[in-house]
Amino acid sequence: MRKLKQLPGVGLLKGMLVTGRNFFGSYRNPRRLVTVSYPEQRLLLPESSRNFPFLVYDGNDSVEGLRCVACKTCERECPSGAIRIVQARDENGRPAKHPERFEIGIDACMGCQICAEVCPFDAIKMDSDYEHAATGRTRPMVHNKLRLAKSNTYYHRIKPREAAEVDARLEMERFRKEEARRKREEAARMKKEAAAKAAAAKPEAPENS
Ligand code: SF4
Ligand code: SF4
Repeated sequence: MRKLKQLPGVGLLKGMLVTGRNFFGSYRNPRRLVTVSYPEQRLLLPESSRNFPFLVYDGNDSVEGLRCVACKTCERECPSGAIRIVQARDENGRPAKHPERFEIGIDACMGCQICAEVCPFDAIKMDSDYEHAATGRTRPMVHNKLRLAKSNTYYHRIKPREAAEVDARLEMERFRKEEARRKREEAARMKKEAAAKAAAAKPEAPENS
């Protein structure tokens, strides 16, 4: 039996058998079709697929809802220098917690996912959209803030399990922050009350006769 397997041409025959089985079987079972007629048809990509990053925003406003606070961690850590961020300024010229400009050169990006992993705010995630062909070598390959911004709903559609985990984590962080703020306020109120009581209990100085 082992010798039969080693005969020349056996591997080829086995391959043709698989092809024939899929070819004739596909008339009864479409799942045996191993090609899709792209672009009319598209494969449903697995959740783990990734190519370029996108910026997540919450709610309906792609500018106000951006989670990015322009901390520039991703820009520093990107190994190919594909990210460029300019932090916004408020009316007094102080740094604001959102990006004025956020650009990714997709011709330089190698899809390593480091930016998504280092972001402390879950603001940048990996997309599975692969249709980025463009003519020209410079501007069309640089995606700006508006083009990069995609809703949390979109994130849930392409990566439901991961997005649900992120939502749960962010909710927990919000709860912890709210609890810490409430405790701080309670402590400050109690301190104030104790000071007021101490002042009221202090004996008055005797009047000079
Ligand atoms: S995407 Fe994340 S890591 Fe990058 S600047 Fe925004 S908040 Fe910072
Ligand atoms: S996926 Fe990698 S190469 Fe692309 S922008 Fe993020 S860190 Fe840079």
